[in-house]
Amino acid sequence: MTRAKRHPPPRRSFAARLIAWQHAHGRHDLPWQRTRDAYRIWLSEIMLQQTQVATVIPYYDRFVASFPDVRALAAASLDRVLERWSGLGYYRRAHHLHAAAKAIVERHGGVFPCDAQTIATLPGVGRSTAAAIAAFAFGARGAILDGNVRRLLARHRGIAGYPGEPKVERALWQQAEMLLPDRDIEAYTQALMDLGATICTRAAPRCLECPVAFECIARREDRIAELPSPRPRKMLPQRAVRVLVIERAGAILFEKRPAAGIWAGLWSLPEIAIDGDVARQCKVRFATDVVTGEALPPIEHGFTHFRLTIHPQRISVRKWPARAEAPGLVWLTRDDALAAALPAPIKALIRRV
Ligand code: SF4
Repeated sequence: MTRAKRHPPPRRSFAARLIAWQHAHGRHDLPWQRTRDAYRIWLSEIMLQQTQVATVIPYYDRFVASFPDVRALAAASLDRVLERWSGLGYYRRAHHLHAAAKAIVERHGGVFPCDAQTIATLPGVGRSTAAAIAAFAFGARGAILDGNVRRLLARHRGIAGYPGEPKVERALWQQAEMLLPDRDIEAYTQALMDLGATICTRAAPRCLECPVAFECIARREDRIAELPSPRPRKMLPQRAVRVLVIERAGAILFEKRPAAGIWAGLWSLPEIAIDGDVARQCKVRFATDVVTGEALPPIEHGFTHFRLTIHPQRISVRKWPARAEAPGLVWLTRDDALAAALPAPIKALIRRV
């Protein structure tokens, strides 16, 4: 934690100091800041959920090059969208983008809605994201409360409790609305995001550089490390699955995931039950004899509601019967697989085999 030296008492409002800070120190040259195109701003806001700016930039450029407007995205196949998203993770976002693009074409004639309330009805767009899009694209005045802003406000206003709890969330929204400026909403919104991401960071906030340090309650009361309160710990259920790395003539067999559930619509490795004989399960599943190879080290992967242990098993086959081919199966070389839309832990596994 950084203990600040004495900051002079502020003569300007919280918002005015943030806006001035943004003009002097904030980020101005990100690809999605050079446009008023709501489609591109929406895209960047969705990509930036759970992903850092530096990671997002090349994906954003690639995505915009493939789908330059909302109609192009709506007309694309989901497979193509997932392929362009591949590597960014949290694929539910790509499903939502695609569904929302279709909704914009069907319900709004291909024109991106301009008010936050309507934007918030699109799949995958919450209240904070809708307000950010409306601010950046249309200059609309509205409060945001993404993860970084929650942390910043919880500390600055001294709001204890886990921000995911409705009571705490309500208190944070109230503060976010109360602090809104009457004008310069784009610079203010960007300032909140940048300050939360670069100064009021989770582990080591740089309070000496913070434009609103003077009246920060957490800093004054030495509570920075305890705010915001962490999510109450609960034990997540543990699941396990065996995945098959079936190799034949330089290619690996992949299976399309169901349209709903985890990793929906992505290509992944075929799964079998963790218990039971591997060769026998393969015989039942693919009607062929296999040679069971090495069991590779297990991979741990966390989902919001459970933890998954993936046990990869190498398999080789000499003959692959025509009747084992199915529309949801495909043989890919390692390079093609790495370019396809695979779940992150499966992609990491393929890189190693
Ligand atoms: S709001 Fe500013 S002063 Fe307060 S903890 Fe964050 S960086 Fe430090």
